[in-house]
Order: sequence, then structure tokens, then C-alpha cells
Amino acid sequence: MGLEEYKGVYVFAQQVDNELSGIAFELLGKAKELAADLSTDVTAVLIGSGVKGLTDQLAEYGADKVIVVDDPELKDYRTEPYAHALSSVINEYKPDIVLVGATAIGRDLGPRVSARVATGLTADCTVLEIGDFPINPIPNQEQKHNQLLMTRPAFGGNTIATIACPDNRPQMATVRPGVMQKIEPVAGAKAEVIEYNPGFTPDNKYVEILEIVKEVSDVVDIMDAKILVSGGRGMGSKENFQMLQDLADVIGGTVSCSRAVVDNGWMPKEMQVGQTGKTVRPNVYFAIGISGAIQHTAGMEESDIIVAINKDDTAPIFDVADYGIVGDLNKIVPKLTEALKAVVK
Ligand SMILES: Cc1cc2nc3c(=O)[nH]c(=O)nc-3n(C[C@H](O)[C@H](O)[C@H](O)COP(=O)(O)OP(=O)(O)OC[C@H]3O[C@@H](n4cnc5c(N)ncnc54)[C@H](O)[C@@H]3O)c2cc1C
Repeated sequence: MGLEEYKGVYVFAQQVDNELSGIAFELLGKAKELAADLSTDVTAVLIGSGVKGLTDQLAEYGADKVIVVDDPELKDYRTEPYAHALSSVINEYKPDIVLVGATAIGRDLGPRVSARVATGLTADCTVLEIGDFPINPIPNQEQKHNQLLMTRPAFGGNTIATIACPDNRPQMATVRPGVMQKIEPVAGAKAEVIEYNPGFTPDNKYVEILEIVKEVSDVVDIMDAKILVSGGRGMGSKENFQMLQDLADVIGGTVSCSRAVVDNGWMPKEMQVGQTGKTVRPNVYFAIGISGAIQHTAGMEESDIIVAINKDDTAPIFDVADYGIVGDLNKIVPKLTEALKAVVK
């Protein structure tokens, strides 16, 4: 079968406890753009047990078709049966592109499936687009069109690499939550639903789940916050973060941080923004005492408005900031908090 016979953009629609994960909608948003460029359609692959009721939601967020693999063996995520399900779908329906979320589940599933269907996978992509490969023509080398160009940080974030998969299909990529944007849902949208079951035989070599212990946290997920007040090493101490909390309290924000802060033990890892932390896209992002290393900006540069406070006017954070205040944060932050108190009711 020729590569040109592989068609369509597929999204692994992750669900947990029969609730779709946000990443499924984000990937559908990107898949819609890619499918438009390729004049093809978007298919969500929904794997689980008793999950058929979720198909309409996938349609509302952009799926033209939903392939449902529904089987009791797929009730909770386990590597083997899920890898069997997704790779069987790929072998049966031959998609051109398969997108998977870089979640704990997707990071486990994606590479295993790509190996089974003998193709490549680019992990943690930050940009996905359709284009020519090689990007610039090379004499005596065929330039292929309509390729998935997968861009991601490489070498510890010190460079950005664009990777293609010109000789194998499907082209597979994982994307971290928060990087792509979901579309506005279209109420009442319907998708063509295809039920497919490759057959699951209970296997004593599969992992057996004895107990699921859910993490209980009363901390706000910084990926959902509309306003983030983020502190860096320039804060000087753990105690000084109270200053950021005071500011956040006035404007209804959440305190987050850079990796240096986590490394110093001032804040927990789940509050870290950046390449090895979380990707955030709030309406307003305050970067206070943060230098703006590429590994940090990779996780926040898509914020709507960025306000940076730093005593060094050459700090790279000012390159991505919409508003910059140069000076000592110990003086500026309390004044800003007081000034905002006066205007925020
Ligand atoms: C593979 C890899 C992954 C990484 N992942 C991440 C990641 O996910 N997230 C992340 O954040 N980093 C990450 N890093 C680390 C990153 O390279 C930087 O080291 C880190 O972001 C620096 O944190 P910072 O800006 O808080 O500290 P610094 O770089 O030390 O900057 C502190 C800033 O505070 C300013 N400052 C100091 N005192 C004051 C004051 N009184 N008033 C005003 N300004 C002041 C200084 O001018 C300076 O600009 C990663 C690195 C690697 C190699």
C-alpha cells in the first residue's frame, strides 16, 4: 500500500472514568486545522468501556467521525489492551496523521503504538503544521509536499527542531496539555460513529489493577487559572512568596513559579511553569523576578498579556512581555498590590 493511501487526521480521545480529558478537545482543535490544509476529515478514536455516550461531545469539538473501541477489557487504562486497540485501528483504517496527548497515558501509549505500526513519533510538539519536506529544496533529493512538520524544543531546550516522517505512515506526534487550543464547541454537531472491536482476550500477562488511589488536592491547577502571579529566583526566599499571594488575592489570581523556585524547595513542582513544568495560557501572566530562560517562556509565551517585573533591563523576559517594569520587586510588588486594591472592588 502506498503512503498516499493513508488518509485523515486521527486524534486519540483520552478519557478517564468515562470523562473526556481536556487534551482530547485541544488536539481536535489542531486536527481540524491540519485536516483543512489537507482537504480531509478529523476522526477521534475513543477507547474504553461504556464510552459510546461521549461521541457527541467529540463531534461538538470538531470530530467528523468517531471510531469507538468499546470493551470491558478497556475499563481502566492499561498499556497492553489500549496499545492493541489503537494499533489495530491504525492498521485497519490507515490514517495519515495520529495525534496523542503527552499525558501520563499518552506518553505510555504513543511510543508503543508507533513501534507496533512501524512508524516514527515526535514527542512534546509545540507547533504542528502542514508543509514541504525538506523545508528548503535540496538538489537531487525529492521534496515531498503535504507533510506533517512537527516542531519541538531539542537539546534541553537550547534549540528548536522541526521533524518530519516522510517515508512512513502514519505521522505520529504527542502534544502536551495546554499547548493547542480547542475550538468553540458547535452545539448539536454530530459525527459518523463507527464501532470497531479487534477482539480482546484476557491475558494473564496483562497488568492487573488491584486498587486505584486518586490524588486529592485542594490546590488550583495553574493550567486553568485566568490570572497567574509567577515568581522566580529573584524573589529571594520562600517567605517572600507571601508578597505574590497578597497580589494574587487582590486580583483573583493564582501563584505559580519558575523551576529555580521548585529546585530551591520554595514551591511544589505542580506550580512550575515551563518545558518540564506546565504549559499555561492565562489572560494575564505576571513574571516577577524571572529571567525568562527559553525553558520558562516555552510554557507561558502564549499568555494573552504578560507583565514582567525585573531589576535587570536586559533580562530576556522583557522580549516576550507586553508590559515591563524595571526595578526592585520588593518595592514594586507591594505598591502594585496597594494600587490594585484601590481599583478592584
Ligand atoms: C532541560 C531543562 C528544562 C528546564 N525546564 C524549566 C521549566 O520547565 N521551567 C523553568 O522555569 N525553568 C526550566 N529550566 C531552567 C531554566 O533554564 C532557568 O534556569 C530557570 O527558568 C531560571 O529561573 P528564574 O528565572 O527564576 O531564575 P534566574 O534565571 O536566576 O532569574 C532570576 C531573575 O530575577 C531577577 N531579580 C533578582 N532580584 C530581583 C529583585 N530584587 N527585583 C527584581 N528582579 C530581581 C534577576 O535580574 C533575574 O533576571 C529548565 C532547564 C533545563 C536545562
